[in-house]
Amino acid sequence: MPELPEVETVARGLRASLIGSTVTKVIIQWPGSIGAPDPSSFVQRLTGRTVTGVGRRGKWITVDLNDGQVLLVHLRMTGQLLLECTECPEEKERERSYTRVVLCLDDSLPTDCPETGYAHLRFSDMRKFGRLILIDNPDDVLGQLGPEPLADDFTVERFKGMLAGRRGRIKSLLLNQRFLAGLGNIYVNEALWRAHIHPLRPADTLSPNEVRELYGAIRSLLQAAINEGGTTLANGNFKQANGEAGAFAGHLVVYGREGEPCAGCGIPIERIKVGQRGTYLCTRCQPLSAVE
Ligand SMILES: [Zn+2]
Repeated sequence: MPELPEVETVARGLRASLIGSTVTKVIIQWPGSIGAPDPSSFVQRLTGRTVTGVGRRGKWITVDLNDGQVLLVHLRMTGQLLLECTECPEEKERERSYTRVVLCLDDSLPTDCPETGYAHLRFSDMRKFGRLILIDNPDDVLGQLGPEPLADDFTVERFKGMLAGRRGRIKSLLLNQRFLAGLGNIYVNEALWRAHIHPLRPADTLSPNEVRELYGAIRSLLQAAINEGGTTLANGNFKQANGEAGAFAGHLVVYGREGEPCAGCGIPIERIKVGQRGTYLCTRCQPLSAVE
């Protein structure tokens, strides 16, 4: 599933080209992708609007429109937002089996595409869990999210305060979007390995030094992954807005590497389940009994 670095990569890819473009037509291939309002209102309210900004909050992409509405997009498992510069006849779009929604854009979009025709933003989603929401007040959806891990106001002191009194497993807590926004299974596994913390450790047992290590690991990991355009796994599900893969998969040290030697100590990486999620760790580098 796309996490903060992947969603940020998509947002940046869209921002460069999408701002100033006007939505001339909305084609909904699968109404289930529209979270709100109802599909016909979605089309009516989005058509004719001009994009004034593109951002990210947690795993949501935010597209600001010139009438104050905001288009929120969550990619979930397999969603992709692809900016394409080919012809956009409806019949041609139907040939692409995973296309769920298409926004046709006016010709203000700068493009070096050799084909003349309409640019469009295509929402493709094999598994159909992704959602597009058109909303007046984005806080209705985004207001519940925890802090942004790369924001200036997310300090190590704040992180320490957030962890105090939390008895749940550190891994499950980091996946909770209301606790901290943007992390998913890949980067939580990687951050815990970098910080030498076992995923099952109760959150409030981390020492001040471990909290600092984990804070630094989360921030440096996310920034490094953004710099590489995110992680595209072997399934190829994540694509940047221009259709290219992200290049961070080769930097993953534990995620998906069960049985391979740990980069820190050489013993095999193990896979366990934590809250139904596959969890990868090195039991030597991340001992469970460190502080207990
Ligand atoms: Zn190790």
